[in-house]
Amino acid sequence: RAKLEGRNSYRLYSVTLDAQEHLWLTMETALRNAIDSGHGLSLYYQPLVELSSNQVVSIEALARWHDPQLGDIQPSDFIPLAERSGLIQPLSQLLMRSLARQLRQWLDEGLQPPPVAINLSVQQFWQQSLVSDIKALYQEFALPKGILNFELTESVLLNKQSQAIALLKELRALGCDIAMDDFGTGYSSLSYLHELPITTLKIDQSFIQQLGDNLGSETILAAITGMAKGLKLKVVAEGVETNAQREALTHHQVDLIQGYLICSPQPAPAFSHQYLR
Ligand code: C2E
Ligand code: MG
Ligand code: MG
Ligand code: MG
Repeated sequence: RAKLEGRNSYRLYSVTLDAQEHLWLTMETALRNAIDSGHGLSLYYQPLVELSSNQVVSIEALARWHDPQLGDIQPSDFIPLAERSGLIQPLSQLLMRSLARQLRQWLDEGLQPPPVAINLSVQQFWQQSLVSDIKALYQEFALPKGILNFELTESVLLNKQSQAIALLKELRALGCDIAMDDFGTGYSSLSYLHELPITTLKIDQSFIQQLGDNLGSETILAAITGMAKGLKLKVVAEGVETNAQREALTHHQVDLIQGYLICSPQPAPAFSHQYLR
Protein backbone atom coordinates (compact mmCIF):
# COMPACT_ATOMS: atom_id res chain seq x y z
CA ARG A 1 0.00 0.00 0.00
CA ALA A 2 2.74 2.36 0.93
CA LYS A 3 4.41 1.48 -2.31
CA LEU A 4 1.30 2.26 -4.29
CA GLU A 5 0.85 5.63 -2.63
CA GLY A 6 4.45 6.36 -3.28
CA ARG A 7 4.03 5.57 -6.93
CA ASN A 8 0.86 7.61 -7.19
CA SER A 9 2.38 10.64 -5.61
CA TYR A 10 5.43 10.28 -7.82
CA ARG A 11 3.22 10.23 -10.89
CA LEU A 12 1.24 13.21 -9.72
CA TYR A 13 4.46 15.08 -9.13
CA SER A 14 5.87 14.31 -12.55
CA VAL A 15 2.61 15.20 -14.31
CA THR A 16 2.62 18.55 -12.53
CA LEU A 17 6.20 19.17 -13.56
CA ASP A 18 5.46 18.31 -17.17
CA ALA A 19 2.49 20.64 -17.21
CA GLN A 20 4.57 23.41 -15.68
CA GLU A 21 7.37 22.84 -18.15
CA HIS A 22 4.93 22.79 -21.02
CA LEU A 23 3.46 26.10 -19.90
CA TRP A 24 6.90 27.70 -19.66
CA LEU A 25 7.70 26.49 -23.16
CA THR A 26 4.42 27.81 -24.55
CA MET A 27 5.02 31.14 -22.86
CA GLU A 28 8.61 31.31 -24.08
CA THR A 29 7.54 30.69 -27.67
CA ALA A 30 4.76 33.25 -27.37
CA LEU A 31 7.15 35.83 -25.88
CA ARG A 32 9.69 35.23 -28.65
CA ASN A 33 6.94 35.76 -31.24
CA ALA A 34 5.76 38.91 -29.48
CA ILE A 35 9.30 40.32 -29.49
CA ASP A 36 9.88 39.37 -33.15
CA SER A 37 6.56 40.75 -34.37
CA GLY A 38 6.32 43.68 -31.96
CA HIS A 39 2.68 42.72 -31.27
CA GLY A 40 1.25 42.45 -27.79
CA LEU A 41 4.05 44.17 -25.88
CA SER A 42 3.59 47.74 -24.74
CA LEU A 43 4.35 50.26 -22.03
CA TYR A 44 1.84 51.74 -19.62
CA TYR A 45 2.56 55.01 -17.84
CA GLN A 46 1.95 55.97 -14.22
CA PRO A 47 2.43 59.50 -12.82
CA LEU A 48 4.60 60.42 -9.83
CA VAL A 49 3.24 63.44 -8.01
CA GLU A 50 5.31 65.88 -5.96
CA LEU A 51 3.57 66.38 -2.64
CA SER A 52 4.73 69.98 -2.15
CA SER A 53 3.43 71.20 -5.53
CA ASN A 54 0.84 68.56 -6.40
CA GLN A 55 2.42 68.39 -9.89
CA VAL A 56 3.29 65.33 -11.98
CA VAL A 57 7.08 65.63 -11.98
CA SER A 58 7.99 62.23 -13.34
CA ILE A 59 6.52 59.06 -14.80
CA GLU A 60 7.20 55.34 -14.49
CA ALA A 61 6.90 53.20 -17.61
CA LEU A 62 5.68 49.65 -16.91
CA ALA A 63 5.80 46.78 -19.39
CA ARG A 64 2.59 45.02 -20.43
CA TRP A 65 2.13 41.84 -22.44
CA HIS A 66 -1.13 40.60 -23.89
CA ASP A 67 -1.08 37.33 -25.81
CA PRO A 68 -4.17 36.36 -27.86
CA GLN A 69 -4.11 32.79 -26.46
CA LEU A 70 -2.57 33.25 -23.03
CA GLY A 71 -4.27 36.54 -22.14
CA ASP A 72 -2.57 39.15 -19.97
CA ILE A 73 0.73 38.07 -18.48
CA GLN A 74 2.21 40.03 -15.58
CA PRO A 75 5.69 41.58 -15.82
CA SER A 76 6.60 39.77 -12.61
CA ASP A 77 6.13 36.58 -14.68
CA PHE A 78 7.45 37.52 -18.11
CA ILE A 79 10.51 39.54 -17.08
CA PRO A 80 11.97 36.54 -15.17
CA LEU A 81 10.92 34.30 -18.07
CA ALA A 82 12.79 36.57 -20.48
CA GLU A 83 15.85 36.46 -18.23
CA ARG A 84 15.80 32.65 -18.04
CA SER A 85 15.32 32.12 -21.75
CA GLY A 86 17.84 34.58 -23.15
CA LEU A 87 15.14 36.96 -24.37
CA ILE A 88 15.83 39.82 -21.99
CA GLN A 89 18.18 41.66 -24.33
CA PRO A 90 15.82 41.85 -27.33
CA LEU A 91 12.89 42.56 -24.98
CA SER A 92 14.86 45.33 -23.31
CA GLN A 93 15.80 46.87 -26.68
CA LEU A 94 12.17 46.78 -27.75
CA LEU A 95 10.87 48.42 -24.55
CA MET A 96 13.55 51.12 -24.43
CA ARG A 97 13.02 51.94 -28.12
CA SER A 98 9.31 52.12 -27.64
CA LEU A 99 9.79 54.52 -24.71
CA ALA A 100 12.17 56.71 -26.74
CA ARG A 101 9.76 56.71 -29.69
CA GLN A 102 6.83 57.62 -27.44
CA LEU A 103 8.76 60.51 -25.90
CA ARG A 104 9.69 61.80 -29.35
CA GLN A 105 6.05 61.59 -30.40
CA TRP A 106 4.87 63.54 -27.35
CA LEU A 107 7.56 66.18 -27.93
CA ASP A 108 6.55 66.45 -31.58
CA GLU A 109 2.96 66.99 -30.48
CA GLY A 110 4.17 69.96 -28.46
CA LEU A 111 3.66 68.23 -25.12
CA GLN A 112 6.14 68.53 -22.28
CA PRO A 113 6.67 65.10 -20.76
CA PRO A 114 8.60 65.09 -17.49
CA PRO A 115 11.39 62.48 -17.13
CA VAL A 116 10.25 58.86 -17.51
CA ALA A 117 11.80 56.01 -15.55
CA ILE A 118 12.05 52.47 -16.83
CA ASN A 119 12.89 49.46 -14.68
CA LEU A 120 16.08 47.53 -15.33
CA SER A 121 16.46 43.87 -14.35
CA VAL A 122 19.84 42.48 -13.25
CA GLN A 123 20.73 41.24 -16.71
CA GLN A 124 19.63 44.47 -18.35
CA PHE A 125 21.81 46.48 -15.99
CA TRP A 126 24.88 44.35 -16.70
CA GLN A 127 24.33 44.28 -20.47
CA GLN A 128 27.67 45.28 -22.08
CA SER A 129 25.97 47.70 -24.43
CA LEU A 130 23.66 49.42 -21.91
CA VAL A 131 25.32 52.83 -21.90
CA SER A 132 25.97 52.89 -25.65
CA ASP A 133 22.37 51.75 -26.32
CA ILE A 134 21.04 54.61 -24.22
CA LYS A 135 23.33 57.13 -25.91
CA ALA A 136 22.18 55.83 -29.30
CA LEU A 137 18.51 56.31 -28.35
CA TYR A 138 19.16 59.89 -27.20
CA GLN A 139 20.78 60.58 -30.57
CA GLU A 140 18.32 58.79 -32.82
CA PHE A 141 15.25 60.35 -31.21
CA ALA A 142 16.92 63.69 -30.35
CA LEU A 143 15.78 63.45 -26.75
CA PRO A 144 16.48 66.20 -24.20
CA LYS A 145 19.17 65.33 -21.68
CA GLY A 146 17.91 63.66 -18.52
CA ILE A 147 14.51 62.60 -19.88
CA LEU A 148 15.32 58.89 -19.36
CA ASN A 149 15.53 57.68 -15.76
CA PHE A 150 16.07 54.20 -14.36
CA GLU A 151 14.84 52.09 -11.45
CA LEU A 152 16.93 49.25 -10.04
CA THR A 153 16.26 46.95 -7.14
CA GLU A 154 18.66 46.51 -4.26
CA SER A 155 19.56 43.00 -5.42
CA VAL A 156 20.90 44.39 -8.71
CA LEU A 157 23.36 46.54 -6.78
CA LEU A 158 24.29 43.87 -4.27
CA ASN A 159 27.09 42.25 -6.25
CA LYS A 160 30.15 43.67 -7.98
CA GLN A 161 29.76 46.93 -6.10
CA SER A 162 32.70 48.81 -7.53
CA GLN A 163 31.66 47.94 -11.09
CA ALA A 164 28.07 48.85 -10.24
CA ILE A 165 29.21 52.24 -8.95
CA ALA A 166 31.23 52.88 -12.11
CA LEU A 167 28.25 51.98 -14.30
CA LEU A 168 25.88 54.15 -12.26
CA LYS A 169 28.28 57.07 -12.68
CA GLU A 170 28.17 56.62 -16.45
CA LEU A 171 24.37 56.69 -16.36
CA ARG A 172 24.38 59.76 -14.13
CA ALA A 173 26.72 61.47 -16.62
CA LEU A 174 23.93 61.06 -19.20
CA GLY A 175 21.67 63.02 -16.85
CA CYS A 176 19.73 59.94 -15.72
CA ASP A 177 18.16 59.87 -12.27
CA ILE A 178 18.56 56.47 -10.63
CA ALA A 179 16.06 55.18 -8.11
CA MET A 180 16.59 52.23 -5.82
CA ASP A 181 13.26 50.43 -6.24
CA ASP A 182 11.39 48.37 -3.62
CA PHE A 183 13.67 49.83 -0.96
CA GLY A 184 13.50 47.98 2.34
CA THR A 185 12.68 44.54 0.96
CA GLY A 186 16.10 43.42 -0.29
CA TYR A 187 19.41 42.95 1.40
CA SER A 188 20.11 46.64 1.56
CA SER A 189 23.60 47.18 2.76
CA LEU A 190 23.27 50.46 4.56
CA SER A 191 27.03 50.63 4.88
CA TYR A 192 27.52 51.29 1.19
CA LEU A 193 24.27 53.09 0.39
CA HIS A 194 26.07 56.42 0.73
CA GLU A 195 28.65 55.34 -1.85
CA LEU A 196 26.10 54.56 -4.54
CA PRO A 197 25.63 57.45 -6.97
CA ILE A 198 21.84 57.10 -6.94
CA THR A 199 19.36 59.96 -6.65
CA THR A 200 16.23 58.41 -5.20
CA LEU A 201 14.92 55.86 -2.73
CA LYS A 202 11.63 54.29 -3.63
CA ILE A 203 10.03 52.83 -0.51
CA ASP A 204 8.43 49.48 -1.21
CA GLN A 205 4.66 49.43 -1.36
CA SER A 206 4.44 46.79 1.39
CA PHE A 207 5.49 49.43 3.95
CA ILE A 208 3.09 52.01 2.52
CA GLN A 209 0.14 49.65 2.64
CA GLN A 210 0.78 48.85 6.31
CA LEU A 211 0.73 52.53 7.31
CA GLY A 212 -2.01 53.04 9.84
CA ASP A 213 -2.26 49.31 10.57
CA ASN A 214 0.83 49.12 12.68
CA LEU A 215 3.20 51.55 14.32
CA GLY A 216 6.20 49.64 13.04
CA SER A 217 5.71 50.67 9.44
CA GLU A 218 5.50 54.35 10.39
CA THR A 219 8.69 54.01 12.43
CA ILE A 220 10.42 52.49 9.41
CA LEU A 221 9.07 55.28 7.22
CA ALA A 222 10.48 57.89 9.59
CA ALA A 223 13.85 56.13 9.62
CA ILE A 224 14.02 55.91 5.83
CA THR A 225 13.06 59.55 5.27
CA GLY A 226 15.52 60.69 7.95
CA MET A 227 18.32 58.71 6.38
CA ALA A 228 17.44 59.85 2.86
CA LYS A 229 17.51 63.48 3.93
CA GLY A 230 20.98 62.99 5.42
CA LEU A 231 22.15 61.33 2.20
CA LYS A 232 20.44 64.01 0.06
CA LEU A 233 18.29 61.43 -1.72
CA LYS A 234 14.75 62.02 -2.93
CA VAL A 235 12.13 59.75 -1.37
CA VAL A 236 9.28 58.24 -3.36
CA ALA A 237 6.43 56.17 -1.94
CA GLU A 238 4.95 53.61 -4.33
CA GLY A 239 1.60 51.85 -3.99
CA VAL A 240 -0.21 54.78 -2.35
CA GLU A 241 -3.90 53.87 -2.29
CA THR A 242 -5.58 55.95 0.43
CA ASN A 243 -5.76 59.53 1.65
CA ALA A 244 -4.69 58.37 5.11
CA GLN A 245 -1.47 57.01 3.59
CA ARG A 246 -0.98 60.25 1.68
CA GLU A 247 -1.33 62.23 4.92
CA ALA A 248 1.20 60.07 6.75
CA LEU A 249 3.61 60.45 3.82
CA THR A 250 3.12 64.23 3.81
CA HIS A 251 3.75 64.28 7.55
CA HIS A 252 7.03 62.41 7.07
CA GLN A 253 8.06 64.73 4.21
CA VAL A 254 8.17 62.15 1.47
CA ASP A 255 8.91 63.98 -1.80
CA LEU A 256 6.85 62.07 -4.36
CA ILE A 257 3.96 59.63 -4.32
CA GLN A 258 2.76 57.10 -6.87
CA GLY A 259 -0.21 54.77 -6.71
CA TYR A 260 -3.84 54.00 -7.44
CA LEU A 261 -4.88 56.97 -5.25
CA ILE A 262 -3.68 59.17 -8.09
CA CYS A 263 -3.93 56.88 -11.08
CA SER A 264 -3.21 53.32 -12.16
CA PRO A 265 -0.76 52.76 -15.04
CA GLN A 266 -2.37 53.89 -18.33
CA PRO A 267 -1.71 53.30 -22.03
CA ALA A 268 0.08 56.23 -23.68
CA PRO A 269 -2.95 58.02 -25.23
CA ALA A 270 -5.00 57.96 -22.00
CA PHE A 271 -1.96 59.07 -20.02
CA SER A 272 -1.07 62.00 -22.25
CA HIS A 273 -4.69 63.06 -22.52
CA GLN A 274 -4.98 63.27 -18.77
CA TYR A 275 -1.53 64.39 -17.66
CA LEU A 276 0.47 66.08 -20.43
CA ARG A 277 0.13 69.66 -21.62
P1 C2E B 1 7.83 48.01 -9.62
O1 C2E B 1 8.84 48.65 -10.51
O2 C2E B 1 8.04 48.12 -8.16
O3 C2E B 1 6.45 48.65 -10.07
C1 C2E B 1 5.40 48.93 -9.21
C2 C2E B 1 4.26 47.94 -9.38
O4 C2E B 1 3.17 48.33 -8.52
C3 C2E B 1 3.66 47.91 -10.78
O5 C2E B 1 3.23 46.56 -11.00
C4 C2E B 1 2.45 48.84 -10.67
O6 C2E B 1 1.46 48.58 -11.63
C5 C2E B 1 1.99 48.50 -9.28
N1 C2E B 1 1.24 49.58 -8.64
C6 C2E B 1 1.25 50.90 -8.90
N2 C2E B 1 0.45 51.58 -8.06
C7 C2E B 1 -0.06 50.65 -7.20
C8 C2E B 1 -0.96 50.74 -6.06
O7 C2E B 1 -1.41 51.79 -5.66
N3 C2E B 1 -1.25 49.56 -5.44
C9 C2E B 1 -0.73 48.37 -5.85
N4 C2E B 1 -1.06 47.27 -5.17
N5 C2E B 1 0.12 48.27 -6.91
C10 C2E B 1 0.45 49.40 -7.56
P2 C2E B 1 3.49 45.84 -12.39
O8 C2E B 1 3.28 46.80 -13.51
O9 C2E B 1 2.73 44.56 -12.39
O10 C2E B 1 5.05 45.52 -12.34
C11 C2E B 1 5.57 44.63 -11.39
C12 C2E B 1 7.07 44.65 -11.43
O11 C2E B 1 7.56 44.13 -12.67
C13 C2E B 1 7.67 46.04 -11.32
O12 C2E B 1 7.68 46.44 -9.97
C14 C2E B 1 9.03 45.82 -11.91
O13 C2E B 1 9.91 45.27 -10.98
C15 C2E B 1 8.76 44.80 -13.00
N6 C2E B 1 8.61 45.48 -14.29
C16 C2E B 1 7.54 46.10 -14.84
N7 C2E B 1 7.83 46.62 -16.04
C17 C2E B 1 9.14 46.34 -16.27
C18 C2E B 1 10.06 46.63 -17.36
O14 C2E B 1 9.75 47.29 -18.36
N8 C2E B 1 11.33 46.13 -17.23
C19 C2E B 1 11.73 45.42 -16.13
N9 C2E B 1 12.99 44.99 -16.07
N10 C2E B 1 10.91 45.17 -15.10
C20 C2E B 1 9.63 45.61 -15.16
MG1 MG C 1 9.76 50.40 -10.51
MG1 MG D 1 8.83 49.28 -6.86
MG1 MG E 1 7.49 46.59 -6.30
